Amino acid sequence: MTWLTQVFTEVGRAIEKACFGQSNFRLTTSEFTTASTIDNGVQAKMALAEVRRQLAQEFNIELTWPILLELKVPPAQGWKSLVYNPEGNLARHQVVDFRGSSAHQVWVKPGLTRVRFKSLVAHELVHAFQREANFLNQNLSLREGMARWVEFHFLKGSAEADRLLKLKHYTFGKSIESILDFESKSGRQATLQWLRSSH
Ligand SMILES: [Zn+2]
Repeated sequence: MTWLTQVFTEVGRAIEKACFGQSNFRLTTSEFTTASTIDNGVQAKMALAEVRRQLAQEFNIELTWPILLELKVPPAQGWKSLVYNPEGNLARHQVVDFRGSSAHQVWVKPGLTRVRFKSLVAHELVHAFQREANFLNQNLSLREGMARWVEFHFLKGSAEADRLLKLKHYTFGKSIESILDFESKSGRQATLQWLRSSH
């Protein structure tokens, strides 16, 4: 271990201790930024920050309510979730009360690849934004389609994207296709405007 890695490891432990009151793992610089799977809270928080930056830059999606991210398999939701997500129960968003005001609770299953983790967080933060900015609360198909559309853009170019697009039901009906179609004709900004003005 070089002295620089040692320094980052110590800093990592200190951050972790400050955030979670414990330091159970040895973190290295590479684990911080390029971990192939997301297995602990520090990795999750750093990936979350990257997702928020990308959502703001590429989709004008900025959230103001606090985000409570937990690396945990979401609670079972019944047969419907299997229809919506052929991969099973990987991530979930819900609005919760946090110190007297609203917050976004997001669960993501631990141990996913970094690209899959980020795409799922992006998907759930789209739902968070739909709630916060109060749109698409009636059209369930477009609501899910918008989240899948953003998720797709986060995955694009990765092996994960090819794998997912082969899954039956991944596209959730025709919604993501009509959004992608709209985008290719009218551009990203017009697409966002259309979705944000829908109920
Ligand atoms: Zn969804």
